[in-house]
Amino acid sequence: MIVTRRRTPDTGDRRLETGDKKHMEKELKVAALRNGTVIDHIPADKLFQVVSILRLKYYDHPLTIGNNFDSKKMGVKGIIKISDRFLAEDETSKIALIAPNAKINIIKEYQVIEKRDLVLGDEINDVMHCVNPVCITNHQPVPTRFYVIQEGNKVHLKCRYCEREIAQDEIKLKKK
Ligand SMILES: [Zn+2]
Repeated sequence: MIVTRRRTPDTGDRRLETGDKKHMEKELKVAALRNGTVIDHIPADKLFQVVSILRLKYYDHPLTIGNNFDSKKMGVKGIIKISDRFLAEDETSKIALIAPNAKINIIKEYQVIEKRDLVLGDEINDVMHCVNPVCITNHQPVPTRFYVIQEGNKVHLKCRYCEREIAQDEIKLKKK
């Protein structure tokens, strides 16, 4: 293989070398954000659900929503970068329900200061509906409560009131 590299005059203008390229691509992924949150490794088919959980349609700071990027682990993935926003606990637990393997990076002054895995607690309170039409939570103003049951990569939930078990693809989040 013949590699030609254009020589640049000594103006201090340094050209990209192959070794820098990888580094730069990595930088571009997160460094565009000065302060805020990056949610990475979102399954491509769950991306717009996360967008809706975070009500990003109404968000008026810089925002990047990308989908169908190559991912070694997942095939394709989605990523969301949100300037000037840090997620509240109820938001992260909603995301954990539908995209439990997503990764959250907190960015301050262009640096990743924290990488956070989404952790589902033992209980999920008042973020989703019970699918059982006769459940008391669908008739009385009581917050829903579910036990989280994890089996390997799969999560399902059990209503504390009516004991109905709900699979991950049946989850209906509350709109708040
Ligand atoms: Zn129920």
